[in-house]
Amino acid sequence: MDTYALGVPGTVSAYLIKGPKPTLVDCGYATSYESVLAGLAEAGVMPSDVRYLIPTHVHLDHAGAAGQLIKHMPNAEVVAHERGVPHLVDPTRLIESSTMVFGKDVMELYGLPEPIPSERVTAVGKEAHIDLGEGLSMTLMHAPGHAPHQISVMLDETKAMLTADAVGIVYPGMKALIPTTPPPSFYPDLLVSTVGQLRQMRPRELLTPHFGTRKDVDWVFDRTAELVIDWVERVEPMWKKKATLESVAEEMEKSVKKDSGLGELPIYARISVRTSVKGIMHYLDKNH
Ligand SMILES: [Zn+2]
Repeated sequence: MDTYALGVPGTVSAYLIKGPKPTLVDCGYATSYESVLAGLAEAGVMPSDVRYLIPTHVHLDHAGAAGQLIKHMPNAEVVAHERGVPHLVDPTRLIESSTMVFGKDVMELYGLPEPIPSERVTAVGKEAHIDLGEGLSMTLMHAPGHAPHQISVMLDETKAMLTADAVGIVYPGMKALIPTTPPPSFYPDLLVSTVGQLRQMRPRELLTPHFGTRKDVDWVFDRTAELVIDWVERVEPMWKKKATLESVAEEMEKSVKKDSGLGELPIYARISVRTSVKGIMHYLDKNH
């Protein structure tokens, strides 16, 4: 379902797995929670029917609405990676670090995540399996690199994979892929090895958060791994010359624009490029 992030369609999706134990994977920004409830209603699922709410990681576009939603979902258990759970239960530090990355004004648009009572949260580690009833099941896998608290989810029967941000961003109508390399915890080698591990599971289709379903599985994996390395290699010399974030982002925007087949990049694509460049520069600061 489309969470209509900041009112814009086609940028942040969530996925509802229907069946005996309806499961919501990701839920958008805090300010999107009403869109998510509307999406559930449209799918004919009552919030009280939802059994699992699985934020793939604690970034605000994936888990922001979880605290509000859970109040409407008395029968839902929140399942998240063990490194993310503390931030779901007490989002204070997450709000602080997100405000440092995005600024106060943007944070107002995203909305602040609300705390989730700890008894409603189950932590998972490297791998976990959830039985969804009637022979349906899913596998949760740790998928670090984009963030240390990220998981990807495989629907075992259909081999549809909910990648989370382990794959790059491809907005509808844009041919370009934008690497998902935000601050503060992006690690290129880990991200590339996660892509390799997900590929080994041989998914048939990819359900991506930004945005939608992709059947061109190999292209998305190849291009993600390629561009993560390519962007780090291209940003590094500019970073060494002490270039500003703005000038590096402008440079990377040019190549995204060229690949995209569009005359102008939409504002949300430009923000994604800027965030990814910021993450790469932050990584270089920390590791050189
Ligand atoms: Zn995301």
